[in-house]
Amino acid sequence: MPASVEIVTIGDELLLGATVDTNAVFIATALSEVGVQVVRRATVGDTEEAIADAVQQALERTGAVITTGGLGPTADDLTRPVLAKLFGRELHEDASIVAALQELWRTRGRGGVLPPSNLQQALVPDGAEILVNRQGTAPGLKLTDAQGRWVAMFPGVPRELRAMVVEHLVPWLGAQAGDRVLRSRYVRTTGIAESALADKLGAMKRRVESLPLAYLPGWDGVDLRVTAADMSASEASAKLDAAVEQLRQAAGTHAYAVDRVSMPETVLAMARAHGDTIAVAESCTGGLLGTRLTDVPGSSDVVHGGVIAYANHVKEQELGVSSDDIATHGAVSEPVAVQMARGVRGLTGATIGVGITGVAGPDGGTPEKPVGTVWIAVDVRGEVRAIRSVFIGDRPEIRHRATQSALDMIRRALLVLAS
Ligand code: ATP
Ligand code: MG
Repeated sequence: MPASVEIVTIGDELLLGATVDTNAVFIATALSEVGVQVVRRATVGDTEEAIADAVQQALERTGAVITTGGLGPTADDLTRPVLAKLFGRELHEDASIVAALQELWRTRGRGGVLPPSNLQQALVPDGAEILVNRQGTAPGLKLTDAQGRWVAMFPGVPRELRAMVVEHLVPWLGAQAGDRVLRSRYVRTTGIAESALADKLGAMKRRVESLPLAYLPGWDGVDLRVTAADMSASEASAKLDAAVEQLRQAAGTHAYAVDRVSMPETVLAMARAHGDTIAVAESCTGGLLGTRLTDVPGSSDVVHGGVIAYANHVKEQELGVSSDDIATHGAVSEPVAVQMARGVRGLTGATIGVGITGVAGPDGGTPEKPVGTVWIAVDVRGEVRAIRSVFIGDRPEIRHRATQSALDMIRRALLVLAS
């Protein structure tokens, strides 16, 4: 059995939806890599009852609890006194924390003098272990009861939490878990629906190398995840590597990357290897394709630039799209996409030009061109291909899917060139 823990994240802002609970995600990811399983997550507001209740129940169930939030110096920061009470401990002022806080105020130019409210952060339940926080003021605290059940309290500030999880939690719980690991790998696919992909995988539909397989559909396509649980690190990596290889084979050209590699990263690497350069002409995606490509560090050797050709006169004047074709076929049409791709290639001298024109919605759809209709053309060294798609989703999703599809068209063109 892998070691198990529960997470309780604390804060009204999490319940209000004002803050996304990235702390729980970070903790779960870090612990899974060392074979510790998060078996339950709870989020509670800044009240004594809610915090005490959630931690009490988690202690009874699993006996191992990680909390984040509510360690600060303000009145809504209740975690420390509430959990001290739950464990039947008194709070005392810890001289080493007071000294560290005073030092922080002295050296970091916070006015030199420690505000009295911050002294609250120096309060420690009797018998608690202090977990040093190098990124902020509030240290973490760990309480263990007579039966060995424990709660480890961490601050809510994500930067502090992350550093402390890496420094304190991962080594300690990882050692407890022994050499058992819980690890996942991914094969990323695009341009194929989940059900069609499952059919393609045949006998591997549910398990590969005896590892369970999960389908994760998203805007980029369907990611396939294989997970190795409760086995040694060497056994896990051997099985995962073999599974990834088999999945890639089965998915064929739909597989564009493994693990966390993105489509833009894949396309940039392929273009670089071929000595190709890319320019984009974007209408309905409004620069999103250019953004996704240039989000990747080091993309400047491949990406020449682009034109956001939203208005027809920009398509005509900057890219040389024929006004007759726009009048005859409409702005969302094959000839316009093709001329945008060609035009931006000519304009920038790139070897690959991309043209995207479509109806991103929510308005502007017609029976012939419903919302989601997008024409994408890719001109690779004078060889042009254009595809019409009707993407599902709302405006952001349609725009994202259009860029993913455009990148996939470049990738496929480069695959053909390479073969
Ligand atoms: P501080 O000493 O800064 O008061 P704290 O331990 O009291 O730290 P909170 O006051 O609960 O932590 O939160 C501090 C900040 O961290 C807030 O901006 C909050 O939105 C953010 N935060 C809190 N919990 C989480 C969480 N689970 N995921 C992501 N961000 C969080
Ligand atoms: Mg706070």
